[in-house]
Amino acid sequence: MVLAQLGGSISRALAQMSNATVIDEKVLNECLNEISRALLQADVQFKMVRDMQANIKRIVNLEALAAGTNKRRIMQQAVFTELCTMLDPGKPSFTPKKGKPSVVMFVGLQGSGKTTTCTKYAYYHQKKGFKPALVCADTFRAGAFDQLKQNATKAKIPFYGSYMESDPVKIAVEGVERFKKENCDLIIVDTSGRHKQEAALFEEMRQVSEATKPDLVIFVMDSSIGQAAFDQAQAFKQSVSVGAVIITKMDGHAKGGGALSAVAATKSPVIFIGTGEHIDEFEVFDVKPFVSRLLG
Ligand code: GDP
Repeated sequence: MVLAQLGGSISRALAQMSNATVIDEKVLNECLNEISRALLQADVQFKMVRDMQANIKRIVNLEALAAGTNKRRIMQQAVFTELCTMLDPGKPSFTPKKGKPSVVMFVGLQGSGKTTTCTKYAYYHQKKGFKPALVCADTFRAGAFDQLKQNATKAKIPFYGSYMESDPVKIAVEGVERFKKENCDLIIVDTSGRHKQEAALFEEMRQVSEATKPDLVIFVMDSSIGQAAFDQAQAFKQSVSVGAVIITKMDGHAKGGGALSAVAATKSPVIFIGTGEHIDEFEVFDVKPFVSRLLG
């Protein structure tokens, strides 16, 4: 179910309810069940859907709903508020400042779009006047350094990596030191991603994090991961102190639900979304417009 379809399903559920002549508990439950089904299909985690349903029932006053002329609006507002709350962990993430060296480390599974997103993030900040640099601490995947090098060269962003060195911690430290000396104010460290959540990946990530002391760790997640989003995000959060999330591949058949799970699991905000393979297909994530789009 793509975002637009989810909005359609929820709108239909709300329309059905507002067409009902009498709004009683049964009609309200039917409407909420319909909305819950739509959210589950959009990969929102079961527990979150259940909690949302309970919260809405608590805040929506059935009598006001029965008497009110605009039942649809009242319900829509309640769903809107709930979804916004679920996407807001309550504290903003670290934001880099121009002229002050910051280290930002990227983590995520292989294929999530991590390397592409590193360059998008660097390019976004470069356009804002930052002096970014990219460090490839992925020594696991053959071709990772070439990919980063190619992306960085295209965007005219300095990069650091090695074809020979196999210790990601050593490369990360060397890269960060070099770019600090060169007065770069946004040093981005790309770490390796594996197919599965293996212990070795987490150990390596923890070591890179300990050695480079990042100001921010960004967890990159593919939006098509589905119901696995919560567990995956939580596993990363338990190993390194994830402070922000970027959801990739929100173009195409993206479902919005993973974003909610990632926020819940990491207690960190989504800061950007990837909307294509190209370097500028990258958007600042804004909760309210996202939820509006979700609801159609
Ligand atoms: P990594 O293994 O996590 O570093 O993933 P890559 O950066 O190599 O990306 C894996 C694939 O996903 C590549 O083909 C990217 O072009 C593609 N990709 C990354 N982000 C997006 C996105 O936002 N939208 C789409 N459609 N493709 C993306």
